Amino acid sequence: MMEQKAIAEYLRRRDLMSFAPSAALIDMDGTLYDSMPLHAQAWHRLMMEQGVDCTLDEFYMYEGRTGASTINLLFQRAFGRDASPEEVAELYHRKTVYFNELRKPVVMPGAQKMVAEFLSHDIVTVLVTGSGQHSLIDRLSEDYPGAFPEGRRVTSRDVSHGKPHPEPFFKGMELAGASPENSIAVDNAPMGVMAGAASGAFTIGVTTGPVPRQALVDAGADIVYDSMPEMAERLPLLLNFFKTSI
Ligand code: MG
Repeated sequence: MMEQKAIAEYLRRRDLMSFAPSAALIDMDGTLYDSMPLHAQAWHRLMMEQGVDCTLDEFYMYEGRTGASTINLLFQRAFGRDASPEEVAELYHRKTVYFNELRKPVVMPGAQKMVAEFLSHDIVTVLVTGSGQHSLIDRLSEDYPGAFPEGRRVTSRDVSHGKPHPEPFFKGMELAGASPENSIAVDNAPMGVMAGAASGAFTIGVTTGPVPRQALVDAGADIVYDSMPEMAERLPLLLNFFKTSI
């Protein structure tokens, strides 16, 4: 079983005898909500207007970065300079407006089942997102009742370093009263997987868009699932292997 192998490998690499997960630190965009196509469209529209040559798909690779760092990456490439703080503020605001003009993102298929599975195993769920967009964060209590109350959310406002830095996941562990040795990180993007792996959590990568699975393997995922429904389906098995590894 790939789950058994992934756990054995994680324990060996972290020099642990066992792993009993008590916290699941879960990303939002592209993980809980199928929102990445909309973010990509909003970014693409914004940057084409600026005269920046770019593709729709490249924005999936930048997922997890802060807005400012995405803007500067593209400004450096196109104009050889960073955007000024005023430009960053204005552009990011406009990107948010474009995003909100699009259809409402739907809940990621399988994600509610995944969250319910964690909760039924007494694993505390914590939101760990690089986003600060209210339009989605405000929907969490309705779409995921009881899973991500205030006080169990890490957003862009709570950290000084975004993913791929591990700080957002460390903050999430703090909120859950957990340590890396009993935390699971779940993320769909290379930057998020890098952050999860760097935090020491058992890191699950889930491909939910055009980013290839190998990009999540290379980012350091302990295990990669090819869709959220697949992950939700196999999660009980994974959690049971953790129990038997003790
Ligand atoms: Mg994501």
